[in-house]
Amino acid sequence: MADSMFTVAGQDMAVDLGTANTLVYVRNRGVVLNEPSVVAINTFTNEALAVGMDAKRMIGRTPSYIQAIRPLRDGVINHFDVAERMLRYFIDKVHRRRWSKPRIVVCVPSGITGVERRAVEEAAYQAGARRAYTIDEPMAAAIGCGMPVSEPKGSMVVDIGGGTTEVAVIALGGIVVSKSIRVGGDEMDGRIIEWVKKEHNLLLGPRTAEQIKMMIGSAYPFNDEPGAEVCGRDLMSGLPKTILLTAAEVRNAIEETVSAIVDAVRVTLDNTPPELAADLMELGIVITGGGALLQVLDQRIAYETGMLVKIAERPLQSVVIGSGRCLEQYEVLHPVLASTSH
Ligand code: ADP
Ligand code: MG
Repeated sequence: MADSMFTVAGQDMAVDLGTANTLVYVRNRGVVLNEPSVVAINTFTNEALAVGMDAKRMIGRTPSYIQAIRPLRDGVINHFDVAERMLRYFIDKVHRRRWSKPRIVVCVPSGITGVERRAVEEAAYQAGARRAYTIDEPMAAAIGCGMPVSEPKGSMVVDIGGGTTEVAVIALGGIVVSKSIRVGGDEMDGRIIEWVKKEHNLLLGPRTAEQIKMMIGSAYPFNDEPGAEVCGRDLMSGLPKTILLTAAEVRNAIEETVSAIVDAVRVTLDNTPPELAADLMELGIVITGGGALLQVLDQRIAYETGMLVKIAERPLQSVVIGSGRCLEQYEVLHPVLASTSH
């Protein structure tokens, strides 16, 4: 790039370290990387064999000595060294100008501990950061959804990820009320597997279950519901078998998860101070994260809370876009970032 001598800051980057997907945003370039948060490890040598897309393809297909690990699966970092390696791998992949030292903002689940937060910063320094920051996921999501987070007005964001759902009310640049539950898209997949096993004696893999959810999953009945042909292993014969699954069955299977998400929204509304609650009545709730794409989930939440519910424009990207905006508008938004000096 001809102008690279003069745009060192152009490599500043934001990373959304999600439980299901990791995204990287580079200043002035936008989202440049979007891959599953998965690492395949050789358990004999402890070597990482693949990261991201390549590693996700291995889930459920690995020989016994390879383990596909999702280091943030439940919103806490349960495989710390693996998470660190993954973060460094993704940053390295996009950080091309090695002589420039970028600012790096890493968005972390709000449930992680202070120690984990510092270790995430450390991993960013190891990967070449000049300064590393962390930002809480709901704050990043709200900024990415274009909500007026710095104003004296309340905004509510609901981020439904793979391993967690985070509900937060934000005003004056801070989180006023929040609730994080360890329930999200993964649990829906698990419930679909259980249902199909119980009702059809058929064993499904997690990736098939996820595809079914995306294709015909829903939170509320709607017109012309589709069905889907699903292939798994018959538990009686041990052979592959295909069945027809209806949208109503899938909805039943995931109902408990969906109602846990709706309850988290209701509890947070209950705990919201009255002035802010009045703002929410006016502005409505924004839902984001991959789970916001579940069909008619917006209508279900609207029906059960009596609030106006909007789906974010790009649910899978709002967190990384919001973190990226903190770099683009550093002067205005830096108060929402956390950083321990290095
Ligand atoms: P995280 O931030 O935890 O990495 P994401 O926001 O990337 O999570 O969302 C991933 C979750 O969203 C997965 O459980 C995935 O199955 C789910 N998801 C993605 N697209 C859809 C869809 N169209 N319908 C329902 N769920 C979806
Ligand atoms: Mg997320």
